[in-house]
Amino acid sequence: MPPVKHALLSASSASRWLVCTAAPRFEEGLPERTSSYAEEGRLAHSIAELKVQKKSTVMTNRTYNARLKKLQKDPIYDPEMDKTTDTYLDYITELVMGYDCVPTVAVEVQVNFSDYVPEGFGTCDCCIIGGDTLNIVDYKHGKGVPVSAENNAQMRLYALGALAYYFPIVGDTIRTICMSIVQPRLNSITSETIAVEELKAWGDSIKPLAAKAFSGFGEFVPGDHCRFCRGKAQCRARANTCTALEDFKDCVPLGRSPTLVAEYERTGVKPDNTLTDEEIGDLLIRGKLLAKWYADLEEYATTALLAGKPIPGWKLVEGRSNRTFSDMDAAIQAILTAGYDEAMVYDRKPKTLSQLEKLMGKKDFEAAVGGFIIKPPGKPTLAEASDKRETYSPAAADYSGVVPDV
Ligand code: SF4
Repeated sequence: MPPVKHALLSASSASRWLVCTAAPRFEEGLPERTSSYAEEGRLAHSIAELKVQKKSTVMTNRTYNARLKKLQKDPIYDPEMDKTTDTYLDYITELVMGYDCVPTVAVEVQVNFSDYVPEGFGTCDCCIIGGDTLNIVDYKHGKGVPVSAENNAQMRLYALGALAYYFPIVGDTIRTICMSIVQPRLNSITSETIAVEELKAWGDSIKPLAAKAFSGFGEFVPGDHCRFCRGKAQCRARANTCTALEDFKDCVPLGRSPTLVAEYERTGVKPDNTLTDEEIGDLLIRGKLLAKWYADLEEYATTALLAGKPIPGWKLVEGRSNRTFSDMDAAIQAILTAGYDEAMVYDRKPKTLSQLEKLMGKKDFEAAVGGFIIKPPGKPTLAEASDKRETYSPAAADYSGVVPDV
């Protein structure tokens, strides 16, 4: 199992504390939260670790099966975990085969990167070392947020720690580091390859930020990284950004439209009360943070009230609920007894595509029904102009699925 102990400046939170240097000390006093997703991730990691151990060490089938069975007995175990961890194992096997001589493979390697980050330590899921190359592989079970290995501070810190860990054995023979993130539930494997010198230079470059974050005199810098911060609901800096009403007050009617401002300055006449499209675009961007922050406040207040802590002006009430049978089997039997035919009472429906893929595993599923899969265009969704996805085309959507006559 991955260790429960966390460093103040953990590798996994580096993308946050490298920007908001105040975050680590601010979060320090706040309770840790766990979620069902985190628990699932922990179990999947243990299965992945076991599989790599079986492949890379001398482990009898009996020991392996006993340990696997034990993990599979966990109430949160899902057969999908076997398939996702197979993908991870396949990738590691591929990397091992890429070495000229059989490399050393180690799992759950405790690494220390305190040469760069005060008291920095962490755990690499898998290290493969041989010749002049060190591979670091991280398994991510989540599918909510895609994580790339490119410029990934967490992976780079692990790599620095792994270099230090193996130095007494291999000295400075390592020249190249390859860092990979395997995120099977998103069908994603990404890598970054970097020269050792470049990696160390990056480590040196972050030292001042790490020292500041550790000192307790860091700066609060709100942004997208707040979403994983333990203090996201209680942080005043984030609240100040989101409640910067001064920033909003001029939106109506002058706003930030340079055209309107210039017009007002030229004529002294205020434009009409209708927001321009330019202003709406601007407000949507600024309101995004506000919407996320408000949802975080709601979640915080709900948790507090559930725990019996009052939040002035608020209470919990029962939400909307749907009627249901207290005993489904007995209710259906009563309907059949009342003279209704089974064909009228039951719908015979196949499982969804995702459920079937989960059942069969990606490879078998692709082999069996890959040719039947189509992907209709999604509903038009508002996104910022900088979004990497292609712009929605109503014409293309209208014609999708239409096969031209030949
Ligand atoms: S909520 Fe954001 S700004 Fe506040 S401490 Fe956390 S990361 Fe920093």
